[in-house]
Amino acid sequence: MILPSSMVDGRPATLGVLGGGQLGRMFVHAAQALGYETVVLDPDRASPAGRIAHHFIQADYRDANALRELAARAHAITTEFENVPAEALAELARTRAVAPPATCVAIAQDRIREKAHFARCAAASGVAPAPHAVIESEADLAAVPGALLPGILKSARLGYDGKGQARVATRAELAAAWRQMGGVACVLEQLLPLALECSVIVARGADGSVVSLPVQRNLHRGGILAVTEVFEQNLPTALVQQAQAATKNIVNELGYVGVLCVEYFVLQDGRLVVNEMAPRPHNSGHYTVDACDLSQFDLQVRTLAGLPLPAPRQHSAAIMLNLLGELWFDAAGAPRQPPWAPVLALPGARLHLYGKAQARPGRKMGHLTVIGPDAASVRQQALRAAALLG
Ligand code: ADP
Ligand code: MG
Repeated sequence: MILPSSMVDGRPATLGVLGGGQLGRMFVHAAQALGYETVVLDPDRASPAGRIAHHFIQADYRDANALRELAARAHAITTEFENVPAEALAELARTRAVAPPATCVAIAQDRIREKAHFARCAAASGVAPAPHAVIESEADLAAVPGALLPGILKSARLGYDGKGQARVATRAELAAAWRQMGGVACVLEQLLPLALECSVIVARGADGSVVSLPVQRNLHRGGILAVTEVFEQNLPTALVQQAQAATKNIVNELGYVGVLCVEYFVLQDGRLVVNEMAPRPHNSGHYTVDACDLSQFDLQVRTLAGLPLPAPRQHSAAIMLNLLGELWFDAAGAPRQPPWAPVLALPGARLHLYGKAQARPGRKMGHLTVIGPDAASVRQQALRAAALLG
């Protein structure tokens, strides 16, 4: 256990994070609240987390000297960036406590290995991934079962926010899309009739204990998360239990340590399908900062430092709205500041901005969480907020 007050090698206990985005920034907030010092490594000089950490190392994730410096400063190290090289985590783990383990991150980074893990877990949980095929060669392309069309072709690596994906209706479209992607390793998934999307965040300690956050209901626009809603009766109880049990099974089977989010589809016939996982806190869990007694970032700190993991409790109904770069431009495309004053006047509205200097369409600049006593009140205030933001 690395307690915040521990002096390690004559210095206050320090927690490190690979990646300096908004997830890292909120991790740093949570670590600092407990009294830890913090160190962030990120290539971007102006990274949101780097700006607020005690120490910032501006370097590439593969820079051996920088990784040595990180290990020298931090007593335990985590990551907030899905595509951080797994080898960097493995290297750090030679001398420091690292969570999540490099082996688990490597699986989550590769849709082929990720789906294989889900398929293995399905035997116990009854929750399977979408019907799919791996495409790594022309021969694989030719052998694709017709039942997978229409489908979505997804690159095995480096996809996020709907990037690295193509919807294909015919074999000819599939072949063209695969070549367009440069013939990289891909997964073709059957296009499923979705009723809704949800996600579950769990935290697993090194001792194998697992706690779960509520099931979040998510709405995407253009492949990017737009809205997360979390309140009672939002989803059928049986579905909530099934999704939480399936997620616990997935982390246990991985031997995971840390915070992990699993995204699910609920099909129009009510069936639950497991989509993908992120080996870190997740955008759909940002509401936990304001609506739960332990946030996903508190859980990340606790799993990293080996602190106790009591079950988190949601104390308020919540709706989170992502604030994308579009909001920083008016209808004519001229830069503007969104109308914060009336938004901040709404009861229960909690604004989080990530300190990014440059707004770009699709860029996650911040989020607004509306909390309240029940679904009706947060719905009302969230609608007002959305109308104000335009
Ligand atoms: P990303 O890594 O970009 O988040 P996802 O696999 O989660 O990739 O896909 C992004 C979105 O595309 C999903 O949230 C969902 O709305 C839609 N989608 C993905 N796969 C399917 C599918 N098999 N059937 C229907 N919709 C899908
Ligand atoms: Mg996704």
